[in-house]
Amino acid sequence: MTPKADVVVIGGGIVGAACAYYLCAAGLDVHLVERYFPASGTSRACDGLILLWDKSGTALRLGQASAALWAELAQTLDHEFEYARTGGILLIENEDGMPAGRASVETMDAAGIRASVLDGTDLRRLEPNLAPDLAGGAFFPDDAQVDPRRATLALLSAAQARGLTLHTHARVIAIQRKGNGQAGVSKVVTQSGEIATERIVCAAGAWSNQVARLVGIETPIRPRKGHILVTAKTPGLIHHPLLEGAYATTVQSASEDLQVALVAEMTAGGTLLLGSSRQFVGFGRSASAEVMRAIATRAVRFLPSLARVGVIRSYAGLRPWSPDHLPLIGPVEAAPGFYLAAGHEGAGICLAPISGRLITDWIMGAELPPFIGEIRPDRFNLVPGAQSDLASGKDIARGES
Ligand SMILES: Cc1cc2nc3c(=O)[nH]c(=O)nc-3n(C[C@H](O)[C@H](O)[C@H](O)COP(=O)(O)OP(=O)(O)OC[C@H]3O[C@@H](n4cnc5c(N)ncnc54)[C@H](O)[C@@H]3O)c2cc1C
Repeated sequence: MTPKADVVVIGGGIVGAACAYYLCAAGLDVHLVERYFPASGTSRACDGLILLWDKSGTALRLGQASAALWAELAQTLDHEFEYARTGGILLIENEDGMPAGRASVETMDAAGIRASVLDGTDLRRLEPNLAPDLAGGAFFPDDAQVDPRRATLALLSAAQARGLTLHTHARVIAIQRKGNGQAGVSKVVTQSGEIATERIVCAAGAWSNQVARLVGIETPIRPRKGHILVTAKTPGLIHHPLLEGAYATTVQSASEDLQVALVAEMTAGGTLLLGSSRQFVGFGRSASAEVMRAIATRAVRFLPSLARVGVIRSYAGLRPWSPDHLPLIGPVEAAPGFYLAAGHEGAGICLAPISGRLITDWIMGAELPPFIGEIRPDRFNLVPGAQSDLASGKDIARGES
């Protein structure tokens, strides 16, 4: 007999896990289908920074709400996921960059978030291993970090304790709709079985467009590749996540070309994660020696002693990019019962809890925040063909896998 669910979540990354957790906590009967295994997509090939300083406007409001939820989850989930409120530092190479650093501090001040400007001396007091010629920076004491893979598993495990049915190795291959195929959704078909449901949440990250096409819509979400280098253990080399000022520019850039800006994050195990790169090069996830070299060069510029530290592995993940740098969260009018929770680009770890909470509020008919219109999927034209330049042909040609 075909099982029935109140909601089927597609995708076992951090966003799908957060949706499943909050939906189950609301008392719904939820099934989650994942084509491989939990956190097999981008949520295990990324940093785990919960950053606010790189956000403004609606993204910042989402980030603040989500950061508060992460702090709560760290207290309430049964499984530990290395949540730490480390604080974060923005690095500024020369005096020309200081006005931008001050502007970030002012934006945070205006939003009630603690932040302070650092001169070169302050910077080296906080991080003695930085290059001695840096002009200064800014300190954001409330930034935090998690292990993203462990956080995904912790959310899924908590959801299972609240009734979640998890289907792994269950790639979604079709979505059936009622009536003449134009009405509400009725069934999710996977390679390993079917589930009847009237509500589907697509949390398939960079692959969300492939799933959306199964209900006849086209989203503008594209894969934006990013590499990480993992160094040999070097405990104490840095004490806070470090990001160079140009990082925010690379996030906002719409350039197709390779963008590199330093991100350095110390893990609980003492290895250092070094990034960041951004490229639109389709769905391939193999690491490139050229990009790794560019990241290493940038890292040594800021942390010269890294020149003597080995890299033990590297990997690449696909950020689910959206053209206005905001995720797509909520129902899709053209496919009743189909919801999107995708398009978080480089902020999906930070924004996962609020995404899960908002999807749950939509489905339960709870009150939604005033800015919800800015993240509704229907702010884009989702009819087939509308995004053809962005999301379909070009990336398919580069191999969707
Ligand atoms: C190098 C790098 C560094 C990053 N650093 C940060 C950071 O510090 N902070 C931050 O907030 N964000 C960061 N990000 C972004 C963050 O990793 C992503 O936004 C986030 O992981 C997206 O989560 P997701 O659940 O939407 O997607 P994913 O984790 O990719 O999950 C989607 C899942 O859907 C599954 N799926 C796909 N198609 C189907 C199908 N047909 N049927 C069933 N399942 C399917 C996939 O297998 C996958 O497991 C970084 C990203 C990269 C690449």
